[in-house]
Amino acid sequence: MIAPRPFKYKCPKCGYSKIIKPKSDVINPVGMSSVCPKCKIQMGSVELNILEEAITQLSLWK
Ligand SMILES: [Zn+2]
Repeated sequence: MIAPRPFKYKCPKCGYSKIIKPKSDVINPVGMSSVCPKCKIQMGSVELNILEEAITQLSLWK
């Protein structure tokens, strides 16, 4: 079983970011809103850094 890797959306304009956990939060990440709530522009998906990934792993235990 392969768990989808978490990632985050990051706004290139203001730096707003939102972590997406495909396994526990949504089945289809494409359906998630990836528009910055401030700028109303499309955010890009980026890899999590090590710290963020650790936090994500911990939260999966709940
Ligand atoms: Zn923004």
